[in-house]
Amino acid sequence: MSASLLVTGIGELVTNDPSLGDGLLGVLHDAAVVADGDRIAWIGPAASAPAADERLDAEGCAGLPGFVDAHSHLVFAGDRAAEFAARMEGQPYAAGGIRTTVAATRAASDDELGAGAARLAREMLRQGTTTTEIKSGYGLTVEDELRSLRVAATLTDETTFLGAHVVPAEFAEDPGGYVDLVTGPMLAACAPHARWIDVFVEPSSAVTFGESAARAVLAAGSAAGLGVRVHASQLEPGPGPRLAAEFSAASADHCTHLTDADVAALRDAGVVATLLPAAEFSTRSPYPDARRLLDADVTVALATDCNPGTAYTTSMPFVVALAVREMGMTPGEAVHAATAGGAAALRRTDVGVLRPGARADLTLLDAPSHVHLAYRPGVPLVDSVVLGGQALRWSASGSSPVVRM
Ligand SMILES: [Zn+2]
Repeated sequence: MSASLLVTGIGELVTNDPSLGDGLLGVLHDAAVVADGDRIAWIGPAASAPAADERLDAEGCAGLPGFVDAHSHLVFAGDRAAEFAARMEGQPYAAGGIRTTVAATRAASDDELGAGAARLAREMLRQGTTTTEIKSGYGLTVEDELRSLRVAATLTDETTFLGAHVVPAEFAEDPGGYVDLVTGPMLAACAPHARWIDVFVEPSSAVTFGESAARAVLAAGSAAGLGVRVHASQLEPGPGPRLAAEFSAASADHCTHLTDADVAALRDAGVVATLLPAAEFSTRSPYPDARRLLDADVTVALATDCNPGTAYTTSMPFVVALAVREMGMTPGEAVHAATAGGAAALRRTDVGVLRPGARADLTLLDAPSHVHLAYRPGVPLVDSVVLGGQALRWSASGSSPVVRM
């Protein structure tokens, strides 16, 4: 009973399939896409497009696969604007601020957590994101991590158990006891609700996890059937990238401070480096070197890291602009990393690409080309989004519905 949708009049279409068009981005011009249900059924020149039940005229808009945001922390309560303001007055970032959000999250009702996460997911969609990963990690009790993952699962299949985000205050004198909780009862309760496990590895921080604790967390998560992702080397060089390689992680995230051996380990193990420049922007820190990773043939993804402490943005266009301006990426490389790269970081082959059989997730820009995402920073260029074959046009639809990515 699923309807078909013809999107036509696409001035420039990034497919990310080099067999369909020019270059790495597989660019087509004057293109059309037909969705049948939630999948792409046809893609090619607008002049030869088949008919469909419904029709969306892009009127020359540029199109691209919906952004794939492979790293976000949408389930939390409260905000940390005061901490941000203090940082901008010169206080350095330390990971301990996470505990502030933990206290607010534990105090929030299920409804408050759900409404907050849904609001941020709507912001993402409004800015062209059609797939997002969402982590737990602000509950840090069995019950609060479990309800965080339940909230995340209302919005995405890409749920990540991050009980090992920080050591909560009540375990400050017994961090080993907290690792036992995370790898024992908490993992047992959370694993059925998560696809991934993650750990914040930062050995010199007083509140995050060192190498042996992180290895224990990742080993337990793997044994429970979860895929592996790692918060690696955000603040200084450390064991995170090596651990990611050791556990055949899908992704090592942040990768702001890498040694040459780290870069080689990521490449050799096929681990995606997911770069999160909004975190460096919001902590006034040096950016990761995307150029170095690309030149070493490491697959690079870009993601928002949306969280209330260090990167309170849901905007993939902002991240693309930062990556081009500050990290040595071309506009095409950044768009590829924000779509196909994110898909690789989630080991997905059905998103981040537009070709027959892929999900019909398409973002249309009120601009003639994808380059405008970096060329016109801060401008709300997203004209409309097709999510699973359903067209959402902001001007016509007013406030967008809550939709599951
Ligand atoms: Zn994060």
